[in-house]
Amino acid sequence: MHDKRVALVTGANKGIGLQIAKDLAIHGLVVLVGSRNSANGATAAKSIGEGAHAIQLDVTDQASITAAAQRIREEFGRLDVLVNNAGIAFAGKPGVPFEERLNSNIPSFASTDDVRRIYETNVFGVMAVTQAMLPLLREAPGARIVNMGSSSGSLTLNSNPDHKHRQMFGAAYSPSKTALHAISLAFAIELEKTNIKVNIACPGFTATDLNNFRGTRTVEQGAREAVRLALIGPDGPTGTFSDEDGPVPW
Ligand code: NAP
Repeated sequence: MHDKRVALVTGANKGIGLQIAKDLAIHGLVVLVGSRNSANGATAAKSIGEGAHAIQLDVTDQASITAAAQRIREEFGRLDVLVNNAGIAFAGKPGVPFEERLNSNIPSFASTDDVRRIYETNVFGVMAVTQAMLPLLREAPGARIVNMGSSSGSLTLNSNPDHKHRQMFGAAYSPSKTALHAISLAFAIELEKTNIKVNIACPGFTATDLNNFRGTRTVEQGAREAVRLALIGPDGPTGTFSDEDGPVPW
């Protein structure tokens, strides 16, 4: 069994996930860089350096999830932190212009198949990975689960007619994050009598592939709240939804 804490970050080959993995490695954790494409994961782990290991993990593929959990048990013997970071905002073909991607989110036109695919990654993927990793997390002295949510999925904010980003609340991505928030709370409630804390981090509007780099925050900023929640001590909260400025309305 490893003597250092071990963290798994899904979708850590780029964007905010890669930065979270870098930051956790700087804090002395062994970091497992989840990536659905093994070569991308290997490149990312190499860029982090010692203490980072690539692990093939497609959150929509149960065989890949099961194999990853088995490998973590056999090679590392423990798991202390799970950051469910992998997410998609668009399920269509690559190369579709950003404005067209936004249109695919309009409730009257959205393809139900595409919406399902987004939920497969953003909601069911998180459930499946969490379920597979829980036996390992339960054995850790004080495990932390951090799910990457979004204020764009806040029903409280988006039901307010004065909310400035309200027009972005479409049929696919934002409701998938609302559902993710709900399932995160369900896990937090189930696990509140254990040493496992489950919290949701919103990175803010961060420049990554997800939004064609239109975000206004850097990945360093976007990673901060998730990293803070991954490292909270035994007195820290569970079942919360927050960004760097504090609680985010559900
Ligand atoms: P990104 O740069 O597009 O990175 C997304 C990551 O998820 C990539 O590593 C991608 O892998 C991975 N991924 C997608 N589908 C996957 C699957 N089926 N299995 C495993 N990995 C998969 O986006 P990001 O902005 O860093 O997003 C990270 C998280 O933050 C997401 O959950 C997103 O919803 C959330 N978030 C982002 C913002 C923002 O403004 N950027 C705001 C709020 C919340 P590939 O390279 O293989 O595609």
